[in-house]
Amino acid sequence: MGRRPRRPLGGEDRPGRGEGPWDHGAVTAPHADSAAAPSPADVGFEITARHGDKARAGVITTPHGAIATPAFVPVGTKATVKSVLPESMTALGGQALLANAYHLYLQPGHDLVDEAGGLGAFMNWPGPTYTDSGGFQVMSLGAGFQKVLSSEFSGGERARTANGEDDAVREGKERLAHVDDDGVTFRSFINGDEHRFTPEISMQIQHGLGADIMFAFDELTTLMNSRRYQEQALERTRLWALRCLAEHARLTAERTHRPYQQLWGVIQGAQYEDLRRRAARDLGAMDVEGWAFDGFGIGGALEKENLGTIVGWVTDELPEARPRHLLGISEVDDLFVAIAAGADTFDCVSPSRVARNSAVYTRTGRVNLTGSRYRRQFAPIDETCDCYTCTHYTAAYVHHLFRAKEMLSSTLCTIHNERFVVRLVDRIRASLQDGSFDALREETTGAYYGQAR
Ligand SMILES: [Zn+2]
Repeated sequence: MGRRPRRPLGGEDRPGRGEGPWDHGAVTAPHADSAAAPSPADVGFEITARHGDKARAGVITTPHGAIATPAFVPVGTKATVKSVLPESMTALGGQALLANAYHLYLQPGHDLVDEAGGLGAFMNWPGPTYTDSGGFQVMSLGAGFQKVLSSEFSGGERARTANGEDDAVREGKERLAHVDDDGVTFRSFINGDEHRFTPEISMQIQHGLGADIMFAFDELTTLMNSRRYQEQALERTRLWALRCLAEHARLTAERTHRPYQQLWGVIQGAQYEDLRRRAARDLGAMDVEGWAFDGFGIGGALEKENLGTIVGWVTDELPEARPRHLLGISEVDDLFVAIAAGADTFDCVSPSRVARNSAVYTRTGRVNLTGSRYRRQFAPIDETCDCYTCTHYTAAYVHHLFRAKEMLSSTLCTIHNERFVVRLVDRIRASLQDGSFDALREETTGAYYGQAR
């Protein structure tokens, strides 16, 4: 391993600061420190335990700390986990946060985040950070696409018209994105202004944001696109991956004042085994003048019932020694399935999104706290939960907050839901270490769904 770069913002390194999860250090002015060029040797991934054919536990090393895997990475879209302090995210066991490049590019702008010392310094989060490439939001917001990893998918909303065109938009929506071989032109969801993303621009934005783990710019497709279109999109994604690596190499050499940022390639290919395997082989072996992907994301359209199969095809082909992130899952059964198939980290907006709508996860399933049966439940939301909310407040109080439309309801339920998923993945990680994965899976999914999955 090479040089271990210092953080540009020294908050937690200074005496008297950063003691315990409730003090992330006061804000200090950003400064550049001169150092040798950051390099991939500054980061790493070590596998510490294995279970079955594919499941593994390990440790991802970043300049802002280690991530024990498998790990759930909570989402802070606009550099904040909505309604929750970063200190609370540390206290509930969050090891890393994921922000969205598209949103931060539009507001406040990646240049400003760069000037502030990078994403972690800007939002006072000292731990590791991820950013997505912006591709998903650019191509999905308003363009008629629907996230397909959900039982809610009905097949009724097609991304393809009756005459077979692949670029139709959902009825009543205006198309906001146009994909060509060089990149994507899109309109801002904030004010309708026209913008353009290319692989190079996505890399420039993500280097400016400064997250420890970035993703290559890829084309999002849906399960409803034709096979022919999937092939074209996959080839475009492959060519964009080469351009991302080249631009990443250029920016890494240029930005010597920053710690090394990992770049992970994104595997697409929808529901097609040959396309998924080909994409994983191509990106796994990809090398641009000595620069390779540090890890991989598994993206795109996945139907719940095929999740394990598709992740399995991809992990069959990817290099064993590099980490894999599955984009956008947090359901209890999906986590077990994905980890068994060899995925290492996960992110999802659901735990915080549903929390703001009064839905909470419990050991025996998801419930809605506005129900009248919680009016006099002078006990925690979940007796078995160790989160701040469950150890300090009753379900009756949180029920009241929702009924009274008080903001604290979002905070308390988000803390609970994020802790629920983080803790579940922590328990799965421990089970990989001690060989109890299958027993934990049966017990947990049996209690949650009423039958083991
Ligand atoms: Zn709780």
